[in-house]
Parts: sequence; C-alpha cells; structure tokens
Amino acid sequence: MNTIASKSNLMDLDRPGLGAFFEAMGEKRYRADQLVKWIHRHGRTDFGSMTDISKALRQRLADAAQVEPPRVLTEKTSDDGTRKWLLGVGCNNAVETVFIPEPNRGTLCISSQAGCSLNCTFCSTATQGFSRNLTTGEIIGQVWVAAQSLEHTQADRKITNVVFMGMGEPLMNFEPVVSAIELMRDDLAYGLAGRRITVSTAGLVPGIDRLRECTDVSLAVSLHGATDELRNRLVPLNKKYPIKELMAACRRYLDGRNRARITFEYTLIDGVNDAADDARKLVRLLRSVPSKLNLIPFNPFPGTEFKRSSEAAINRFQKIVLDAGLVATVRKTRGDDIDAACGQLVGQIADRTRRQERFRKRLAAQPLPVTVNSGAPVL
Ligand code: SAH
Repeated sequence: MNTIASKSNLMDLDRPGLGAFFEAMGEKRYRADQLVKWIHRHGRTDFGSMTDISKALRQRLADAAQVEPPRVLTEKTSDDGTRKWLLGVGCNNAVETVFIPEPNRGTLCISSQAGCSLNCTFCSTATQGFSRNLTTGEIIGQVWVAAQSLEHTQADRKITNVVFMGMGEPLMNFEPVVSAIELMRDDLAYGLAGRRITVSTAGLVPGIDRLRECTDVSLAVSLHGATDELRNRLVPLNKKYPIKELMAACRRYLDGRNRARITFEYTLIDGVNDAADDARKLVRLLRSVPSKLNLIPFNPFPGTEFKRSSEAAINRFQKIVLDAGLVATVRKTRGDDIDAACGQLVGQIADRTRRQERFRKRLAAQPLPVTVNSGAPVL
C-alpha cells in the first residue's frame, strides 16, 4: 500500500461534502467553492496550480488529499462522432461512458455501477454480473473525463445533457448517484439544469420515491412490456414491483412538481413485444401518466437469443402509438461501429455473482462459436 491510498479523493465530494472536509481541517467552508471550480470547471487535479489558495494550504491539501479521476483505458470515436471511453475503476473493473453529439446538444451516457445486479434478459451488461457500486468520484469522474477530453479536442462540443443509461441501475446506488447529480447541477461545476439530467431506472419503486424527495431531475423508466406477464420475462425486477405499482410511483414522481413527463423506454424485440396488440396495450397503460415514449430497436450482442424487430414492425408499432396521441420517437442507433449503442456497453467486470460464468457456459453449449464481449478491448 502506498500513502496515496489513504488520502481522501476530493472527486468523491460534492460542495457540501467539500465544505465539511475543509471545516474538519480547521478551514473556512467557502474553500469548497474554490475547489469545485478548480476541479470541475477548470479540470485541475494538481493543487499546485490552484493559485487563489495560499501556498501553505495547498501543501496541506497535497498532504491530506488528492484529486483522482477514473483512469482512461481506451477512447474511441465512431464515424458518426459518437465517442466512447473505457474507464478503469480499480480491482479489474472498467465501465463505459458514451458521448453522443447531435446538432443542438451533446448527451453523455454514464454508468452508475460496475456491472448490474438486475438480470434484464435482453441487456448485455446483465451477462457480466455485478461487481460493485461506483463511488461519487467514479460517477462524476465520467463527466469530468468527457468534459476534459472534449475541451482539448473539440472545444465547440459541450455536454448539455447527462443520462444514467450506461451500465448499472442508478437507483440501486442511491447516495453516490445523488451526490454526483448535485455536482452536475452545481453552477460552479457543470451547471446543468435538473431537467437535462435523466435517471433511467428498471423500475425500482422505493428509489423513485426517494429520488422525488431530493432532486428535480428527469425520470426515464425502462418498461419494455405493458403486461406483467411480458415484463416479468424481460425485466425480472417487475416480479417485485409490478406495473401497477410502478405506474403509481411514476404519477407520484410528477405530482405537483415541475416535471412535465416521464420518458418510457421500450426496446423492440422481434416477436417478443413488438406486435400490434402490444402497442395497443401500451397505449392504454400510458394514458394514465403524462409520458413520452422512446422506442429502442433492440441491439444484439453475442450469445443473445433475441433479435431486433423488423423495420416494418417498428414502423407499425410507432404508428399505433402516434395515432393514439402519444409522443413517441424511435431512438437512432449511434456509435454502432464502436459498440457504443444502447445495451451494448460491457466494460469489464470482476463478477461477484457467477453470472458471467453461467452465461459463458450457456454460450459454450451453443452450436455456433461466439465470443463474449467481443466489443470490449482486452485489458
Ligand atoms: N438500469 C437502468 C439504466 C441502464 S439501461 C435501466 O434499466 O433503465 C439503459 C437503457 O438501455 C434501458 O432502457 C435498457 O432497457 C436499454 N437496453 C438494455 N439493453 C438493450 C439492448 N440490448 N438493446 C436496446 N436497448 C437496451
């Protein structure tokens, strides 16, 4: 063990946390404002360059603390401009972060856990099992890394939106996620409005209620099926929090606050949830909540039994929901050539659940030779 390991990582602290840190050092809380600006606005990690802080205090900081963002293992850029970073988060774990440029905005898709403990049957992260929750520093560090990288290579490109749609279930890592959200919103850091930050959940009802108590971010719910029977198959968490309870939580989330609507994500899987009747059931369900629907053509990954819906099925599905008056968009697949599409983020997970092993065994039993995680660089 080196001495660095025992130093506090100031990336882990939001402004109140930094205030408390300085207070514990016998310093004034406002020092936190300076540090937030240096770290997140100016991207500095060395105390030596923080020139509005006295030399003596800089030295004390260097003795007690460090600013350590996640390590960039690889960075790839797609033909369409999408960028993907593989970030080392210690103990043989790596997570992925994706930046998606569009004409009027830049969306950063971040991860909240190394792996995922939910077992959604159509998601590649699920095949990797679960290692651990990310720390605040590892979550906000993804924004830090992307912001720095853009600043140095494409200064005209900014992060205008952040979505928790990478690896992991954000509401199962509640405090670090909320603390990272605070930094995203902090005017001295990234200054994003709450509605530009989206927490996407597989439907953890108590987490939705807790989130409503402490932030005003946008909420996306991964639905994928309009009946419990179908949803149980795709999102096993539904057995614990069935659709009726989930919809009630969504209504509570919007209740009396300035959050216009919930985004429902619906991955279209060939022959599983893409029939005209599925669309009609979805229409009936979504009538009860102010919503917009995000249809995601399924992105295949090695070893999956599912297939993407045909163009015709996607169009038919969208037409039915649009004709019924819902707002519905089909998500464009971006970053296909670098495996950065939705549900394809794999990173590298030191699995503690043995799910990876079981999945590999299942793959090995299949007649065709396929590789697991072929998109992820070998570390
Ligand atoms: N756990 C959170 C966030 C991560 S998943 C959640 O469930 O919302 C982000 C989105 O990608 C979810 O809507 C998820 O259902 C979708 N997704 C996962 N695997 C996919 C795949 N193979 N193809 C298309 N979308 C997928």
